[in-house]
Amino acid sequence: MSLNIWHPFTQHGLGEPIPEIARAEGAALYLADGTRIIDAISSWWVQTHGHCHPGIVAAIQEQSARLDQMIFAGWTHQPARELAVGLSDFLPETLEHIFFSDSGSTAVEVALKMALGYWHNRGETRQKLLVMEHSYHGDTIGAMSVGARGVFNQAYAPLLFDVGTIAFPAAGAEQAALDQLEVFCKDGENRPAALIVEPLILGAGGMKIYSPAILAQMAAICRAHDVLFIADEVMTGWGRTGTVFACEQAGVAPDILCMAKGLTGGVIPLAVTAASDAIYQAHFSEDRAQMFFHSSSFTANPIACAAANANLAIWRDEPVRQRIDGIIASHRAFSERLEHRSGISGLRQCGTILALEIDDNAGDYMSDLGPRLLGFFRDRNILLRPLGNTIYIMPPYCIAREELESVYRVVEAAIDHFGAS
Ligand SMILES: *Cc1c(COP(=O)(O)O)cnc(C)c1O
Repeated sequence: MSLNIWHPFTQHGLGEPIPEIARAEGAALYLADGTRIIDAISSWWVQTHGHCHPGIVAAIQEQSARLDQMIFAGWTHQPARELAVGLSDFLPETLEHIFFSDSGSTAVEVALKMALGYWHNRGETRQKLLVMEHSYHGDTIGAMSVGARGVFNQAYAPLLFDVGTIAFPAAGAEQAALDQLEVFCKDGENRPAALIVEPLILGAGGMKIYSPAILAQMAAICRAHDVLFIADEVMTGWGRTGTVFACEQAGVAPDILCMAKGLTGGVIPLAVTAASDAIYQAHFSEDRAQMFFHSSSFTANPIACAAANANLAIWRDEPVRQRIDGIIASHRAFSERLEHRSGISGLRQCGTILALEIDDNAGDYMSDLGPRLLGFFRDRNILLRPLGNTIYIMPPYCIAREELESVYRVVEAAIDHFGAS
């Protein structure tokens, strides 16, 4: 007898097939019978260099035989120290401190706790958090609280805390969103502790894009009013938007930056919350009551840190930026091909991410177009997982031109099949 496996974000009652993957290599997943499936969403936005990269595989093998896991409270190890050195080449120099955890959600929880701890330890009552409409920051309680409310978290509403929400700075409505932020920041009665945003592109909220200039202005408003600026780069980090971190494009150095997904090349769970010296200093004291009260069993797991170090080595030694530029150019050419097509709207690109909406009357996540599209792509051996009627492509950087072309062709076929004309 076997226990039933309960899958995430899966309605088992719909009886959809759950294919079993036997192995993976590069941009492909393989079924046991050898069927090759192109992983056009980087296995849910985590894989950057492609599956089973030999450098990361070797690092995991070596590290797991030497030092597998150990307590990180009061002790340290070489892979973590090496990662602290390596990351300094990729982060703004004002982010001098790194705190480890093991997922994007926990990286966000850590960021929120750091922000509130900062004000608490300075003796200021600032507990309000500001968020952006349509955001997603993870599925734990705190992360859900700062994310969009909806069918995803309706049942848990009593557990979620109140936040101040600014509008998404959609094209043409940017100033209104900035003004709202300013109003919140100026509120003398209820001064906000921090603003948390997904820089440049809101992932789970529907691949919604805003410009680096707006990101820069939001950061500037926060700075002017002494409100902490938290960048959730869990999805955008490690090259997705064309630069290593999205904040680079806006010339913004956040007070706190969260990364996870691509940190280990998307192979093994590890997260980092990077913080400015001011955040760290607010917790630095001879008073034990002011320490940062957060830990998890696997904080800075040595095998995960070794995988992250291997990821950094790939960024240093391989033409990762060229691969990314290649995808950006291919997406652009594909966008031109789609420009005059009927049946779609909202065609947009942010770095290696291309997104569009299939025109459909019931265009929300719960419309059944999402599952039907998923099945359409699955039948054609392409792993794409639309968000409702939003189709997006987010490939691993190793993807070959021909592979990307076959993804494009299947997307065109889906537009022909489903797009209202
Ligand atoms: C995926 C994601 C998270 C949550 O990361 P997990 O590792 O799934 O917990 C948080 N923020 C953003 C922007 C994400 O895309």
